[in-house]
Amino acid sequence: MYSIDSIGQILRPKQIVLVSKDSVITDLVYDSRKVAHAEGSLFFALKALRDGHRFVKDAYEKGVRSFIISEDDFPVHNFPEANFVWVADVWQALQQLAAHVRQQFEKPVIGITGSNGKTVVKEWLTQLLAGDKKVYQSPKSYNSQLGVALSLWNLSDDYDYAIIEAGISMPEEMAHLETMIKPDIGIFTNIGLAHAGGFASKVAKIEEKVKLFAGSHTVIYPSKYGFAPYLPPAITSFTFGDTADDSLQVEVLDEEARNQQSVLLLHYKGNTEKVRIPFSDKASQENILICISTLLSLGYTLTDVIQRVGRLRPLEMRLQLLNGKNNCSIIDDSYSNDLASLQIALDFLHQQQQHDKKTLVLSEMEGMNAKLDEKLFKLLDGQSLYRIILVGPALANLQQQLKQPVLYYAETEALIQDLDKLAFSQESILIKGSRTFHLEDLSQLLADKSHETVLEINLQSLAHNLQQYRSLLPTGVKLMTMVKAFSYGSGSFEVANLLQFNKVDYLTVAFADEGVELRQNGIELPIMVLSPDEQVFDSLVRYKLEPEIYNFRILNAFIAFLRRKSIAHYPIHLKMDTGMHRLGFLPNEVSSLVAVLDAVAEVQVKSVFSHLAASGDPTQDEFTQLQVDRLNQASAQLKDALGYPFMRHIANTSAIARHPAIYMDMVRLGIGLYGVDMDHKEGLDLEPVSVLKTTITQIKTLDVGETVGYDRRGVITRKSRIATVKIGYADGYNRHFGNGVGKMMIRGQEVATIGSICMDMCMLDVTDIVANEEDEVLVFPDLQQAAQSIGTIPYELLVSISSRVKRVYFYG
Ligand SMILES: *Cc1c(COP(=O)(O)O)cnc(C)c1O
Repeated sequence: MYSIDSIGQILRPKQIVLVSKDSVITDLVYDSRKVAHAEGSLFFALKALRDGHRFVKDAYEKGVRSFIISEDDFPVHNFPEANFVWVADVWQALQQLAAHVRQQFEKPVIGITGSNGKTVVKEWLTQLLAGDKKVYQSPKSYNSQLGVALSLWNLSDDYDYAIIEAGISMPEEMAHLETMIKPDIGIFTNIGLAHAGGFASKVAKIEEKVKLFAGSHTVIYPSKYGFAPYLPPAITSFTFGDTADDSLQVEVLDEEARNQQSVLLLHYKGNTEKVRIPFSDKASQENILICISTLLSLGYTLTDVIQRVGRLRPLEMRLQLLNGKNNCSIIDDSYSNDLASLQIALDFLHQQQQHDKKTLVLSEMEGMNAKLDEKLFKLLDGQSLYRIILVGPALANLQQQLKQPVLYYAETEALIQDLDKLAFSQESILIKGSRTFHLEDLSQLLADKSHETVLEINLQSLAHNLQQYRSLLPTGVKLMTMVKAFSYGSGSFEVANLLQFNKVDYLTVAFADEGVELRQNGIELPIMVLSPDEQVFDSLVRYKLEPEIYNFRILNAFIAFLRRKSIAHYPIHLKMDTGMHRLGFLPNEVSSLVAVLDAVAEVQVKSVFSHLAASGDPTQDEFTQLQVDRLNQASAQLKDALGYPFMRHIANTSAIARHPAIYMDMVRLGIGLYGVDMDHKEGLDLEPVSVLKTTITQIKTLDVGETVGYDRRGVITRKSRIATVKIGYADGYNRHFGNGVGKMMIRGQEVATIGSICMDMCMLDVTDIVANEEDEVLVFPDLQQAAQSIGTIPYELLVSISSRVKRVYFYG
């Protein structure tokens, strides 16, 4: 336990003003929206995309009383009850504190880095060691400068090992992570192209990553990546590979993969044994071998390790949002349970606006003791939850302490038997449990699940992309996000909840119906409706939706409608046609527009805007400027006449990336939010948001001369293996992808279509790869390339994915 006073001493600050120096700090916070226990929180005013000093007031109002700040002239007198610690650099202070906590931990710390697989290796290692050791792991993918610091804060001597992930995206970052983590044992999973962005070359990236191991005694890695020359000279390498090489500790003599399983023949210290693992893809094999090597290097015997691996189960690693029965939403996070990941999941639960009732189902955590009890109580106390359902004997006491309605079950089976009585309905239900409690059985019973073609949407990547664009905007410029066309194919209220939580200023939909759906699911942001017609005026007003007004017909009709309803000053958005020539008032109509608007009180102009025809095309920049000039002229004329302020906006995604001078009062972010990088702007690092997946239904071997599909278009010219997959043009997989044009991916291997695309299915030539029935298939491994191959653009492919394709949401 640290008091604010002792933290002050650790940080050696410039100045310190303590009102209550014995205040015990339990939580480190950096986001005023995420304050869970104000009393024990220490707020770090970090300078990131936004300056944390601006949110001190908000945090103070929520009850936070301890702050780390760096601004000399910060008006601390406005916060008379708070402790303030001034440091030169708040980031450094956070990391210093994390490093201090780490130094108190005397057991081994394992640090993991690499381009992929870090989280999987961390989770598996934890599972493999769980039999006889207590393992502390950094939660989910908390691997950044901030995530690592927050992870280390919860480390305590209750654990036998700590496993911490370190992720970097830019040069110079690893040194900071190293000073915090100081791993005794290092793991370097692999090196790939991920986040190549800030690095000059692969070697530069390797050299940066190995800085994590500066003080380690051992490092574990697959030998094939050739990391040896870059490692610190005194370090011991523990490597594996399939070559007969003296430097290897573990030799992979043979490997066989089939039916989602593989069998590896391993040679270690004179022993040869077979290990069966429940995966068949190369990446999982490599990740398991890293885990095996790590346990061997810790002194476990090969026989023991192999037994442990046999008990591993494939992980659904991510928090998943599912549609449930009885109009419930299920948040399934039932594979791991610790305080930090519970906090993340609760945050996600509170983002959900579609139901007022929010329920938590929580199992016991690994290694419950008095201290953890106390922390868990603090985390749950005061959360506004409709009900809490606790599972596991170690939580029996908690039941008495909590003020919310609490139900208690000793085991999952008892809870499941009580399902009828619990009568879940119209609720958002967070299911959070550790593996031994198998709460996934509960989510399976509550969720509508199916194994069809699905579009997986990662809401965390969406939030990431939002921040990327936001970082380009100067303060004061508002952000409107486009959720039209079912959020470019990726869903409606699920996406809007996230945008509302992240405080965008406006949402835009194409049709009133879409806006109504958002309102019915609890979205309260202002919503603009593009091109509404007369039939929907009623729902516009009823659901507080703001129309785009694009000509006199619609303007006059709307004014007449409002007059009949005796409504005044209803917000509208005037669309100017400055060159796109789609919808909007032409420049020569502005005087007449002024005349109409001047004479009525029914409407109030909220904004005047226009849409760019070619903002992504450098050869059209002059035309873009012409459009901007026309909008400026029109809005100046309107401003003079109306005599009240309104916003102006014109920039879409490409303009945000390419034309900072035309942000005006607000920008309208569309395709970029969904992770499609049209502009390849330096420094803008987007993550893909949606992944379309299907499965192999059948595989058959065909002889020369046979044909595949309608009209016999797929001709077999060599003995071939042909896989039928469950996606066709009715799902939005365009017929132009037939006959080899479409490329899909199975276990990391690219394959092409053969024959014509059918309505519900199509066929792939899998002759040259390893593939089995029921394997997962990525439909668009490269969306831009796919769009190009049939002469369209990514927008069309995304919005064409038909509504019968189930959307599945993940966070993380
Ligand atoms: C769709 C749309 C946008 C967003 O365009 P992107 O190219 O996806 O960023 C902006 N404004 C209007 C009026 C739109 O219809």
